[in-house]
Amino acid sequence: MTEASGGLRHLTLGQVHDLAFNCLTANGCDDANAQAIADNMTAAERDRSESHGLFRLPGYVASLRSGKVDGKAVPRVEDAAPGVVRVDAANGFAPLALEAGRKPLVAKARSQGVAALALVRAYHFAALWPEVEAIAREGLAAVACTSTLPYAAPAGGTRAVFGTNPVAFAWPRKDAPPMTVDMATTAMARGEVMIAAREGHDVPLGVGLDADGQPTRDPKAILDGGVMLPFGGYKGSAISMMVELLAGALIGEVFSYRAGAADNRDGGPSRGGELILAFDPARLSGNADWQAEGEAFFRRMLDAGTTPGSVRLPGDRRYANREKTPRDGIAIPGALYEQIVDLAG
Ligand code: NDP
Repeated sequence: MTEASGGLRHLTLGQVHDLAFNCLTANGCDDANAQAIADNMTAAERDRSESHGLFRLPGYVASLRSGKVDGKAVPRVEDAAPGVVRVDAANGFAPLALEAGRKPLVAKARSQGVAALALVRAYHFAALWPEVEAIAREGLAAVACTSTLPYAAPAGGTRAVFGTNPVAFAWPRKDAPPMTVDMATTAMARGEVMIAAREGHDVPLGVGLDADGQPTRDPKAILDGGVMLPFGGYKGSAISMMVELLAGALIGEVFSYRAGAADNRDGGPSRGGELILAFDPARLSGNADWQAEGEAFFRRMLDAGTTPGSVRLPGDRRYANREKTPRDGIAIPGALYEQIVDLAG
């Protein structure tokens, strides 16, 4: 582990995992939960999905220390119907519960063609691509969505109702890692608005409204009494609304506005649900060559630019990083490293 110029701390991926695991167990996680979260966080750092790597550790610790989340939760998997797996995270963080539900979800999707996983009583503080990528690696297509704290107003509104409500989708590829898209349904991720506020940059119009409900480029005005906005006007707003319903009422969990009312604002995640759908293309298409069809479509997409490389597939930035970081390691801000060491006692 070395310190580099600019206050960055260089770490190997093994050191990232150890830091996360030790900090979590020191703050009340059992080994199984700490392992699942540390695996998830190390995968995020490996892919340079930094906003869901070690950066999240202080938030996890805050929710362990406040008692909001049970670091020793034992997820319960219920066979709710031929095509439905229900996973009760028992007030724990999502990663261990998602691991517990993956195998039965995949088995049901293979036997039924389509299956759903309803994750409830969970605290999700991570990216969604890990869960859909893992399912696509089993040869299935997958969609996942979850809601969060209420930060965004619906189109035409000025008061926060929706979370940043991410949606992810993965498609299994031939001789390539799954195509995986994973995006918040707000115009900008909340973390980016916070970084812009800290660094004194403007954000584009359309990202949020100020406390008077007026469009603003000032990220501080959005964060201090204002609201964020969904991407793409009423269309993104409709997708965010869909996420609220699919990850809330559909599976017996809370909407963002209710999660917000109940949350203790300790800096960690809020309680919520996640819906994951898995599809078996072999069963649904009846076409033994379904994967070749997908590949032909991706080739057509990649050829649609004016210059080679001007179109890329979602997920490819992460996969390129994944090749490099096991060799080169990663760098995190020195201040974050010190904070984690301090939290680990
Ligand atoms: P981005 O806008 O950075 O990226 C969204 C998607 O678009 C990614 O799959 C990305 O692929 C892809 N993409 C980006 N640029 C291009 C391009 N030029 N061509 C093709 N594809 C492209 O992500 P967001 O800021 O919206 O979301 C960040 C993360 O935050 C997500 O992982 C989300 O799950 C997570 N999140 C989690 C929440 C929670 O409560 N758990 C709440 C809200 C968000 P690539 O990665 O390869 O760049």
